[in-house]
Amino acid sequence: MNDGFIVDVLVIGAGISGLICATELQKSGLQVVLLDKGRNAGGRLSTREMQGARVDHGAQFFTVRDSRFKIYVDQWIDSGVIREWFRHADWDTNATGYPRYCGVDGMNSIAKYLASTLEVCQSEEVQTLSLRGGCWFASTKNGNEFVAKKLVITTPLPQALALMETTNLNWAGDLLSRLKQVRYEKGLAALVLLDQPSLVPVPGALKFSSGPLVWIADNQMKGISPDVTALTLHASAQFATEHWDSSDAVRGQLMLNAAEQFIQGSVVDLRCHRWGFTLPLNPWPQTYLSIEPLGLALAGDAFGGSRIEGAALSGLGAARIIQGSF
Ligand SMILES: Cc1cc2nc3c(=O)[nH]c(=O)nc-3n(C[C@H](O)[C@H](O)[C@H](O)COP(=O)(O)OP(=O)(O)OC[C@H]3O[C@@H](n4cnc5c(N)ncnc54)[C@H](O)[C@@H]3O)c2cc1C
Repeated sequence: MNDGFIVDVLVIGAGISGLICATELQKSGLQVVLLDKGRNAGGRLSTREMQGARVDHGAQFFTVRDSRFKIYVDQWIDSGVIREWFRHADWDTNATGYPRYCGVDGMNSIAKYLASTLEVCQSEEVQTLSLRGGCWFASTKNGNEFVAKKLVITTPLPQALALMETTNLNWAGDLLSRLKQVRYEKGLAALVLLDQPSLVPVPGALKFSSGPLVWIADNQMKGISPDVTALTLHASAQFATEHWDSSDAVRGQLMLNAAEQFIQGSVVDLRCHRWGFTLPLNPWPQTYLSIEPLGLALAGDAFGGSRIEGAALSGLGAARIIQGSF
């Protein structure tokens, strides 16, 4: 907590965009504090431990095309944080293409690695923001208050807009109605532990273009759950919307049924997770949004283009603009 102490930049959200943004700001000598409502950093880079199994239940892998992001990726490979999982240019033809990278101990390894050199305050859910005397004040559910000269918000955009509403500022002018139109898909994940190896083919991942599921991954074949067979099933956005309020028993069983041909033996455990935000359907056309007179930037995958690389580039862009304002 930095009660009474003014840091240079507060970054709300310690997903990949916030972590990269904070890393860049810190490299340039600025004092940065990240606030995140979760128990661990990473946001949608999420890995769960279940009865000896390790399961990636959010993002599954990522690709790299941009040289600015590649600098990070090369460092993660050299440090043993990530490795190539597989490469497909085309799921239908299996043609060789871009590497798909995953965290060595799950996708959350990337967040852990980045957070290890940053000041991240976990379990700090920001509830209100205000701009007073040229400084940003963030009050959290725990009753703490954080103060900074500049603010970067990297939560999914609808959550960022809800936070900005608490300022009572006319901060975005004509842009506000367009920002409110950015929408995300919903998602459902089912995490399934089995007492026998699965029948998912090598490399341990399958993508579907119809039916209740869009994705099945075998985390044991992926290499992150050596001792226990653990599947990740991701539902289609349509199924997730239809079954948003169903019980876990109902939606979990339906997802299990859809994966039946890849399962042998018995199900040892089945848990479901609802994702309120998976991918933005209509991302904002710019990489970040900067309101310079207020010392404010908004970043995240709503700006960078709907995937890990896009979110990271959005964080980089926001860091550049904030650095330039000091
Ligand atoms: C099921 C699923 C599968 C996916 N698969 C892939 C994939 O295979 N490849 C890929 O490239 N991308 C994938 N994605 C998308 C990818 O995960 C995201 O694009 C990326 O991780 C977004 O990062 P971010 O930093 O913008 O947001 P987030 O990771 O959502 O981070 C935002 C952070 O803000 C925090 N937060 C929110 N509100 C507050 C508050 N009020 N106070 C404090 N903290 C707050 C949250 O706790 C969170 O940690 C997937 C996403 C999901 C959900």
